[in-house]
Amino acid sequence: MRDSADATDSLDAASLEKEADFLRWDDEPDRPREACGVFGIYAPGEDVARVTYFGLYALQHRGQESAGIATSDGVHLALRRQMGLVAQAFTEDDLANLRGYIAIGHTRYSTTGSSRIENAQPFLLDSSLGAFALGHNGNLTNTLTLRDRLLREGETLATTSDSEIIARMIAISPGATFAEKLQHVMPQLQGAYSLVLLTPTELIGVRDPHGVRPLTIGRVQEHWVIASESCAIETVGGEAVRDVAPGEVVVVRGDGHGGLTSYVGNAETLPAACLFEYIYFARPDSSIGGRSLYLARQRMGAQLAAEFPVDADVVIGVPDSATPAAAGYAAARGLPYADGLIKNRYIGRTFIQPDQRLRQLGVKMKFNALGAVLNGKRVVMVDDSIVRGTTIRPLVKLLRDAGASEVHLGITSPPFRWPCYLGLDVARRHELIAARLPNAEAIAREVGVDSLHYLTLDGLIAAIDLPRETFCSGCFTGVYPMPVQMELADRLMLEQEQKLEQVASASIS
Ligand code: SF4
Repeated sequence: MRDSADATDSLDAASLEKEADFLRWDDEPDRPREACGVFGIYAPGEDVARVTYFGLYALQHRGQESAGIATSDGVHLALRRQMGLVAQAFTEDDLANLRGYIAIGHTRYSTTGSSRIENAQPFLLDSSLGAFALGHNGNLTNTLTLRDRLLREGETLATTSDSEIIARMIAISPGATFAEKLQHVMPQLQGAYSLVLLTPTELIGVRDPHGVRPLTIGRVQEHWVIASESCAIETVGGEAVRDVAPGEVVVVRGDGHGGLTSYVGNAETLPAACLFEYIYFARPDSSIGGRSLYLARQRMGAQLAAEFPVDADVVIGVPDSATPAAAGYAAARGLPYADGLIKNRYIGRTFIQPDQRLRQLGVKMKFNALGAVLNGKRVVMVDDSIVRGTTIRPLVKLLRDAGASEVHLGITSPPFRWPCYLGLDVARRHELIAARLPNAEAIAREVGVDSLHYLTLDGLIAAIDLPRETFCSGCFTGVYPMPVQMELADRLMLEQEQKLEQVASASIS
């Protein structure tokens, strides 16, 4: 694991891509990747850096490339950020040096800007109101426009991250308070942003007007905490109170109002929550929009059973994320559920070469098929998504090698046909198996199953049990809740832009 800025000084796009692959080649090679997790706490008298560390630990699934914590003692801000997992990024000494009573933290997976230490968060900036730190989960869709505007105004951008663009805009915006600054900046931002901000005396949470990424407010004893997911609040001994509303700014400070004040950051709200948070990304022990994700996933399995009633002997799920849905399918069909695939949870990030052959070997190293459960059986395997198809194909082969007589595949999402521009790393469109192949029959042939069914969008929405118009379904339909700059499909775009600018200025001088 590289851990210093000098490892990526070259802006050569190919080498940056290679490094990004190095870092993202972990144990789930064909899953969509979440962008980031954020956490914040305002708790006088508590070791807020340590609480934030464990909050980030619970959000590790949302980003594994870098982690950071910033604290305030009421006057000074301190920051520590490092490449790697939360457990690798901080030592006891680091936590001891992060003093204060307010903290924010961030775990990162890069969707805009490559994986390197300068892009790790929180960012620490100066502003007209003094220093502040910011952590961002999501992706802006008008990054290029905002970046050009900042550069024209004479601002210097130190990183290639859209999160820095938000931070710079806040830094230079007018406003007598940070809440006023945010009210000025939010109408200019398009895209997905769930933010935590730390000022010398405040903890601030912000959610974009579409509420694409989750953000939850909770209590730990009498203190306020803000986190990407409710599971992180419960992990540190707290209780979730409510979601931050789309377009809302919540400010925690020690000046009365029970400590928490709500502002309208952008009144033009049009909720478009990410469906994939419900299907796969968020932890099953979290709740979003008042819905338990574990129960929603069970209902997705039941809905799949209604749409895809296969005659089978046993139902298995691809561990661990599809387990609740597989149990829901089995219960709805009155079929036995079993663990047909055993996952090696410790193989972690062993393989670092991202070529196709090793990706397929990686699946074998990761899963073992249980012949005692599968031999001679007609199997329904439930999974939550197929991206490229590179994981599912070798999994099907494992089942057949273990003696399964038939393999039927049920997917608890509609076909993934379009990229995500809102904070998820999926794949480029030509890599998506459902965009490459014309229908489910062709995909079934390619991945080697006897039959295949994708849960319909109607079935998915019915399982979540919230109004359809409150969701984004861009990766299934190609219709996004906001305009997107298609160039953002390449998350290394900003490096390439920066390189072109460097070449241009070198040739002028
Ligand atoms: S495009 Fe898909 S993955 Fe991206 S925010 Fe919308 S629903 Fe979520």
